[in-house]
Amino acid sequence: MTTSWKRTLPALGLGIALGLGLSRIRLDTPTVSAQETESPRAEPGTVLADLLEGNKRFVEGKAAHPHADQARIAELAKGQHPRAVVLACADSRVAPEIVFDQGLGDIFTIRVAGNTLDATIVGSVEYAVEHLGSSLVLVMGHARCGAVRTTLDVYGKPDALVALGPNLEALVERIAPIVPALPAGLEGEARIEAAVEANAAFVAHQLEAQSEIVHHAVESKKATVIAGVYDLAHGGKVTILEKSEKK
Ligand SMILES: [Zn+2]
Repeated sequence: MTTSWKRTLPALGLGIALGLGLSRIRLDTPTVSAQETESPRAEPGTVLADLLEGNKRFVEGKAAHPHADQARIAELAKGQHPRAVVLACADSRVAPEIVFDQGLGDIFTIRVAGNTLDATIVGSVEYAVEHLGSSLVLVMGHARCGAVRTTLDVYGKPDALVALGPNLEALVERIAPIVPALPAGLEGEARIEAAVEANAAFVAHQLEAQSEIVHHAVESKKATVIAGVYDLAHGGKVTILEKSEKK
C-alpha cells in the first residue's frame, strides 16, 4: 500500500509547525502520553549488567533473540520503556540490538557515522532519558570505524578535507577535536583504536556538556552516561571505557 501525498503533506506541515514552535513548548507536558512515563526507572548498573550479559551471549554464539515476536509487538503498542539509549555508528557491522542480544522495545538506538553528536541526536537522547525512562546512555564506538579512520587520514590536510565534500567534512570536523590529544608514537590500527576510544569518551562527555536534561539526569542519579567500544575485529565483545559520574 502506498501513502498518498494528501495524507503525507498535512503530517509534514504539522511536523514543521511543531518544530518551529518547539522553543515555546514545555517538552514535559503536552508531547508524551502517560503510557510512556509510568514505568519505574531501572537502576543504571542493572541495565548495564543486562546489556553486557547479552553481549556475552552474542560473543559465545548463545544469543537468545528475546522480545522479537508478535506478543512483544502487542505489548509495545501500548507504550515503550527502553531501559538504555545506545548511540552507535551507522556502520553495517554495528547493530546494537544484535550485539547486546536485545529485542524490540529494549534499547533506544541512535546510529550515525562516527557516533557523533548534533542537535537532533542530543534531542533524541533527551527524549529517551526524560520521557521514556531510559537510565543508561551508552556511547559505543567500534573497531575498524571508517569515520574515525577518515578523520585521521585527512587531519591537517586541508585539501583532502575539502575533497570529501561539505557534508563528510562536517562529519570529520565533529571527530577531529580528539586527534591532538592522541598518544604520540601510535601507528596504523593502534592509532585508529586509540582514536575510536577517545571519540566515544569525548562524545559521552560532550553529550552531558551540551544537554541540560542529560546533565540534570546524571546529577540527580536518574541516569548514567558511559562510553564503550565494540570490538568487531575480535568476536564482537563490548568493553566499557569510563563512567561519566559527577557529584
Ligand atoms: Zn564507524
